[in-house]
Amino acid sequence: MDVNARGLQVKKSGVEIECGACGSESLLIRKPVYEGLKKLGETFSCAGCGHIFESEEDIPFKCDECFEVFDKAELAGADKVFREDERGVLCRYCSHYVVNPFTQWCDLHRKEVAATDVCDDFVRQEDEEKGVI
Ligand SMILES: [Zn+2]
Repeated sequence: MDVNARGLQVKKSGVEIECGACGSESLLIRKPVYEGLKKLGETFSCAGCGHIFESEEDIPFKCDECFEVFDKAELAGADKVFREDERGVLCRYCSHYVVNPFTQWCDLHRKEVAATDVCDDFVRQEDEEKGVI
């Protein structure tokens, strides 16, 4: 994760900038610089006013809002989901899951379920083998 001049997290691959020269939200123009066939680097300029940024570090990338959508609590929750047992909370691993030759059934909600359904009332099976098709 990179941080721009205002301490906001940015994606350096982005093209949206907040140009300090013209003071507007603009787009970044990247132009490769060649010497013969050899690529020397890139120049970076503002699509609005043409201001050239000295280096990639000077580019005022616009803060990517998606980084602000999640607060810390939500991020912690997301982290927990990923750490959950690989098999997750699928009905087929729930103690309420009953399977017979005709249907897959949730004993708790008294309804048909699919092995890959996900349920908030998931209770991990004591017996790991139960319900495995
Ligand atoms: Zn500009």
